Amino acid sequence: MELKEKDLKYIWHPCSQMKDYEELSPIIIDNAKGVYLYDIEGNSYIDIVSSWWCNLLGHGNPRINSAIKRQLDKLEHVIFANFSHEPAIELCEMLMKVIPTGLAKFNFSDNGSASVECALKMSFQYHYQTGQPEKKRFMALSDGYHGETIGALSVGGVDLYSKIYKPLLFDIIRVEAPDCYRCPYNLARESCMAECFVKTEEALDKYGKETSAFIIEPLVQAAAGMRIYSPIYLKKLRKACDEYGINLIADEIATGYGRTGKMFACDHAEISPDIMCISKGVTGGYLPMALTITTQKIYDAFYADYNEGKAFMHSHTYSGNPLAASAAVEVLKILEEENILEQAAENAVYLKEKLDDILGNHDNVGEVRSIGLINAIEIVADRKTKTAFDSKKRVCYEIYKTALKKGLLLRPLGDVLYFNPPLVISKEEIDFAIDRSKTCAGRKDFGRFL
Ligand SMILES: *Cc1c(COP(=O)(O)O)cnc(C)c1O
Repeated sequence: MELKEKDLKYIWHPCSQMKDYEELSPIIIDNAKGVYLYDIEGNSYIDIVSSWWCNLLGHGNPRINSAIKRQLDKLEHVIFANFSHEPAIELCEMLMKVIPTGLAKFNFSDNGSASVECALKMSFQYHYQTGQPEKKRFMALSDGYHGETIGALSVGGVDLYSKIYKPLLFDIIRVEAPDCYRCPYNLARESCMAECFVKTEEALDKYGKETSAFIIEPLVQAAAGMRIYSPIYLKKLRKACDEYGINLIADEIATGYGRTGKMFACDHAEISPDIMCISKGVTGGYLPMALTITTQKIYDAFYADYNEGKAFMHSHTYSGNPLAASAAVEVLKILEEENILEQAAENAVYLKEKLDDILGNHDNVGEVRSIGLINAIEIVADRKTKTAFDSKKRVCYEIYKTALKKGLLLRPLGDVLYFNPPLVISKEEIDFAIDRSKTCAGRKDFGRFL
């Protein structure tokens, strides 16, 4: 049997209507190098989505490969309760130099959703153990995305993922998110004062006392369609959380590790969260690893004699996996030693100009918005009225299929196409990607699909 047939016989792919695979069968990747993926039929694809936003330094990065190989011959895994190892310790020591000030304690897990669950439980238990048991609810933005497990889905606000499970989810205080493309105040994200923060103020006024934490994707609501908003919003949120004694949880899973041009999105607003979740990018897209990082103050609320029952009884089998940690250490070394962020910043400007050039005036492009190397293209039926296409038409999915034929992996988010390439993409590779996308998204050809 052919590999593709065998795949369909056995595998239930993530985030997919499997019936779609009747028309577009799975692409079996054999090997990859840098920003290119190669399938078993000899086709190549530019991985412009960084394999779900986690590949930072290219596929088959020689330094990460050797780091993992070295670690593999020493220690593959060990229980992380009461046991430890050098890669995990070194990772924390190195992270201390780059994370927002005030964060100091590192809890390990193995995927983003798990790190969010960990953050929510940590905040809840912190308040419980510091004499504030009434603080047991969470506040979060509409259209936020925090993962797929029940707690993470509860705080998330993207209907596509959570609607069906509503009866299972816990009760969240939902605040209307900034919507800069269709700003209800008719302001621009570059010059506004985050006037929309008034929605959060209203919610805090009403529910602040019973709120344990506010969880937010700083600066970019990624899964919602790379919705970018002003750092002023975050500054205001930090201040308000302090006033109401609420933990600020920054979900930097998608925005961390240089994606927005700075190491963390919080850095743009010069704020420190009380709890920060990171995962995508931590191992450069090699191995599953996530961290929930918090302050000494929160940590101290759990520190007591065993019989007081204050410990954080949260664990995952693969917490702190040494192979993943060894990759994570190497990633931080490469970022620093090879000046990756400086290089990425330069190429980000280049990519943005190219996209503006081919799409800036397109009738069906509402907005090309960018931050760092994240570039989102909002596809609309009418540029003037900003009217969206009928979602049943699946316009972006059609473009995705065409782009694949041209060797470009452009997986869409609803009405939004995005370029979020590995940070090491070069100008030549950007040119090549733009060339390939021109043939499916150029002014003339674009119309064919719309
Ligand atoms: C991807 C993502 C998650 C979930 O991470 P998984 O590893 O897929 O569970 C959570 N929050 C944000 C912002 C993400 O982008």
